[in-house]
Amino acid sequence: MSSSPSPIASGPLGRRQSRRAVIRYGDREVAVGGGAPVMVQSMTNTDTADAIGTAIQIKDLARAGSEVVRITVNTPEAAAAVLAIREQLDRMGVDVPLVGDFHYNGHTLLNDYPDCARALSKYRINPGNVGKGAKRDTQFAQMIEAACRYDKPVRIGVNWGSLDQALLARIMDENAVRKEPWPAQAVMYEALVTSAIENAQRAEELGLDGNKIILSCKVSGVQDLIAVYRELARRCDYPLHLGLTEAGMGSKGIVASTAALSVLLQEGIGDTIRISLTPEPGGDRTREVIVGQEILQTMGLRKFTPMVIACPGCGRTTSTVFQDLADKIQTYLREQMPVWKGVYPGVESMNVAVMGCIVNGPGESKHANIGISLPGTGESPAAPVFIDGEKRMTLRGDRIAEEFQTIVLDYVQTHYSKQTAA
Ligand code: SF4
Repeated sequence: MSSSPSPIASGPLGRRQSRRAVIRYGDREVAVGGGAPVMVQSMTNTDTADAIGTAIQIKDLARAGSEVVRITVNTPEAAAAVLAIREQLDRMGVDVPLVGDFHYNGHTLLNDYPDCARALSKYRINPGNVGKGAKRDTQFAQMIEAACRYDKPVRIGVNWGSLDQALLARIMDENAVRKEPWPAQAVMYEALVTSAIENAQRAEELGLDGNKIILSCKVSGVQDLIAVYRELARRCDYPLHLGLTEAGMGSKGIVASTAALSVLLQEGIGDTIRISLTPEPGGDRTREVIVGQEILQTMGLRKFTPMVIACPGCGRTTSTVFQDLADKIQTYLREQMPVWKGVYPGVESMNVAVMGCIVNGPGESKHANIGISLPGTGESPAAPVFIDGEKRMTLRGDRIAEEFQTIVLDYVQTHYSKQTAA
């Protein structure tokens, strides 16, 4: 007798087991790895020496949902501004942990500006940019000693644009004497992975707790990133920060980042992510946070904000009414979340459907918590609204968007308030 078929399974293939690092500021703790939810981080593009401008952008990124924000600390002026940035954030009630991004002179800045070293919650060290020759080991050690002294975690962040050339030369030499030398691409992958792991081991030898180390190996090609991280995940148990470096602008940057990260996250690889989008002229820096959240939420790994399900529209829709409504509702929900998440626990799980006609409108709307099916061409000018699968009312006229928004708010207040939850 044949056994019954197993149910079709969905979801990631199981999370990679890793150590857990904790990034702290005040009472705020953000765990990375060890089964903690995959965390979204971002980076400012202001001049860090401009303390007010940088603090305002950090506030915007944190308000958009960035759980950690990285700032470049590249000059004495930038290092001197870090404490002022932290204090300004405190005055604004923003407790997001700050990460200092160091290249070339990090050993000097961390030594000369102890207030900066203390105010930061984590240091990012690029092992390819800590110095050359004999100075390299000394300067790397100075940065690790600062991390030990101030009890800070570090990210050892390798980037193929700034790979340690001495290490690359060594790996190439080793490859040259192989019976069957590896192709150049494999040598590059090996150099990236080796750089991250050897520097992490060196940091531990210097006294840094192994639970205070996060690794990354960023490249700009999707297939390269997947290959490198699979190998990195296989060879160590440090938490991993994922990101496609120089992802690019607009849809290309979003698509490339999503393609690369989705494969790895589905395989359980990745404990924190950053989407390195190039902002379009006049564009909003918070876009990278929203894209990061949307990747995790659409994959079912985390919930950040209520999702709007909208149909793409077609020849059955002769106006942009439903596009405008979908956009207004999505924007409205996102803008409310900083307040709602404290007042309406669980609201981030809500689904709202905005559909363009009767073909899939009622069906999709019934699957959502709240759905509206707008009239398509030739349909009667009425928009049925479905709540928890049942048609409850029909909206008509010029104020459908406003009335639907009121219905959504009423649903949130009645279904997610703390009193209701209790
Ligand atoms: S729901 Fe209607 S308007 Fe939307 S894509 Fe489908 S057929 Fe077109």
